[in-house]
Amino acid sequence: MSEELLVLVDGGHGLGTSGKQTPDGEKEWTFNNKVVLGIVNGLKKYKGYRIVRLDDSTGKTDPLLINRTNRANALIRKHLADGGTRAILVSSHHNAAGSTGKYTTATGVETFYIDQTRLNYQVNLGGRNVETSRINASKKLAEAVHPGVVKAMGLRDRGIKRGNLHMVREPNCPAILVEGGFMDGSIDIKALRDAKKLDAQGKAIADGIAKYAGLKAATGIPVAPSAKPSAPAEVKGIGRVKILADKLNLRDKPDLSGKVIRELHAGNEYNVYEIDGMWYKLSSVGWASIGSAKNYMEYTPHPKKETPKPAPKPVAPKPPSPKPAKPAAKPVEQKPLHRVSADGKQVNAFRDEANALNQARESLKSGAKDVRITKQ
Ligand SMILES: [Zn+2]
Repeated sequence: MSEELLVLVDGGHGLGTSGKQTPDGEKEWTFNNKVVLGIVNGLKKYKGYRIVRLDDSTGKTDPLLINRTNRANALIRKHLADGGTRAILVSSHHNAAGSTGKYTTATGVETFYIDQTRLNYQVNLGGRNVETSRINASKKLAEAVHPGVVKAMGLRDRGIKRGNLHMVREPNCPAILVEGGFMDGSIDIKALRDAKKLDAQGKAIADGIAKYAGLKAATGIPVAPSAKPSAPAEVKGIGRVKILADKLNLRDKPDLSGKVIRELHAGNEYNVYEIDGMWYKLSSVGWASIGSAKNYMEYTPHPKKETPKPAPKPVAPKPPSPKPAKPAAKPVEQKPLHRVSADGKQVNAFRDEANALNQARESLKSGAKDVRITKQ
């Protein structure tokens, strides 16, 4: 059992990525990289975390967004399987306002988290659903990180925004994308060329992560107050279960229609964060059913001494009468993935071919010239 925080960091793009550069030809990745290194260094004064970088730390390649988030989700799955309960993702970028190759008057820092409104549209197209608790947790992470970034860069505060961006939509954990200033802004570029400011930006992000997650100083003294216990991913839970069945499905909602995240195996133990009818929430993302005919989990509430608070109910709680849960279902068979790319860049990926065709049409409508669907 590990209460370790898995920190996933991502420097946007790569050295060879065309277009992502200042009017003077400085590559966006070189700015993002300095921020990522600042996060890595900034976190060194804390303990209780593990950090993994999702971009190519040499900058030589620009991994596809889908590869970055697939890797993130594989790491999260492994972390959960090892008994971990918490993960976050921060992607570092720097903005561009113009496409003319000239400096602009655009200025300021903005931080993104997932946009539910546009996400609903995305889900209709076959995209991934994102549960309310992850959206709320992403917002809290943004609120913990953003003010420090504004201060470190000394630039205008453009605020915390919501966007349907791949790097905040696809990870199975709270995720934010920080735009630390405009690389084609005549004011901002001065800050971006100041390595100390980019280092300070990274350190501010590290402090924000620590504040959000309540990380303690490496010496053992708390340096940041724990975030409010209302953040679902941070509650240590109300009890503990032992898994009795083999291949018990962990789903993304307390219903048999929920997507299977992974399988749980007999003998493993997990914290329980919430109980909804016959469904137990075992991580910030996953639910498992206790079973109707036979119990597939053995539940023991936490002893009362350590003020274990139950996780708050989601904003729109379900009526506490879920359909009778079936014994653990067989794993869902994976259909081939249809990757849609527009002008050489992947824009989305779907299991459903019709959705991929829709996306391809959308891309063509929005001006892409070369749209392809590849099956995998
Ligand atoms: Zn970027």
